[in-house]
Amino acid sequence: AAKAEGKHRWCRYHSELLDQAVRRAELRAALDEALAHGSLTVLYQPIVHLHSRRIAGFEALARWPHPTLGLLGPDSFIPLAEETGQIRELGGQMLRLAVRQAVTWDAPRTGHGCFVGINVSVHQLRGEGFVEAVRDVLAQTGIDPRYVVLEVTETALLDHEDVGVREHLRDLRALGVAIALDDFGTGYASLISLHDMPIDIIKIDKSFTSRLTTSDRMRRLVRGLLTIGDTLGIGTIAEGVEEWDQHERLLELGVRAGQGYLYSRPLPADEASALWAASRPLPLTDRERP
Ligand code: C2E
Ligand code: MG
Ligand code: MG
Ligand code: MG
Repeated sequence: AAKAEGKHRWCRYHSELLDQAVRRAELRAALDEALAHGSLTVLYQPIVHLHSRRIAGFEALARWPHPTLGLLGPDSFIPLAEETGQIRELGGQMLRLAVRQAVTWDAPRTGHGCFVGINVSVHQLRGEGFVEAVRDVLAQTGIDPRYVVLEVTETALLDHEDVGVREHLRDLRALGVAIALDDFGTGYASLISLHDMPIDIIKIDKSFTSRLTTSDRMRRLVRGLLTIGDTLGIGTIAEGVEEWDQHERLLELGVRAGQGYLYSRPLPADEASALWAASRPLPLTDRERP
């Protein structure tokens, strides 16, 4: 009986695996279709100067309007795209969409623009074509490259300690774009990556931000990160700011910029542009509301 049951369990396990493989294949084919039709879109989440709460830039975040599953977030298709190699095409499309959008925010005559943060997978960075793709989009749009920030996660960087990645980062920086270390503090060797990689900005992970109001040790830790950043001439952005208390703590600590639901959710391009044009502090407190 035990043997029969074991066999039954094995069959069920096997059919679940099969289901998974089928779903994956379907998703992969649908993603190919979406890439061929250029139907992936980008939402833009404001990043604010903490003192004024005015917009400093936006992070571009990929979304996939799937025909039957609804609007999908990156967690449900970026890992797949990385496995299948579709990430190169996907990342190239996101890069072009985001930079073409950002150039409309650029105000060369006033010298008053805002930056766009673009997430880059390490699979893109390793490939030969990425530096070229960035060079092309800079040339085609004429955007001031200082307004382009490429966000790379440290775990990704350290899992791929090949010289290729480091060299490509240097080539990118030579084009005038900035490099941000995303989700800083979540990897196992954050300090090594700061030493080894050409980094301009660190994005302090939301797991730090969320603990600022309850943990004195965490406040001291963040202060330490800021000191490290200052020492190396690196700017900092706090991610995942959801509450006013966190905002105030960050200000006290001397963090310059923040991003999170407190200020704004990720927005469609037209709403992001309207906010940028209005140039008001985010969010409006009741007193400031017109
Ligand atoms: P990330 O680069 O760390 O982006 C920040 C994520 O935190 C976004 O999730 C954003 O919507 C979310 N977030 C913003 N404010 C808050 C907050 O106050 N609280 C909380 N809990 N979350 C907040 P999203 O859009 O789901 O993106 C997830 C991740 O997917 C990104 O993390 C990034 O690593 C990756 N990703 C997004 N777009 C792209 C892309 O075009 N290419 C690549 N390679 N990866 C992307
Ligand atoms: Mg990011
Ligand atoms: Mg992040
Ligand atoms: Mg993240």
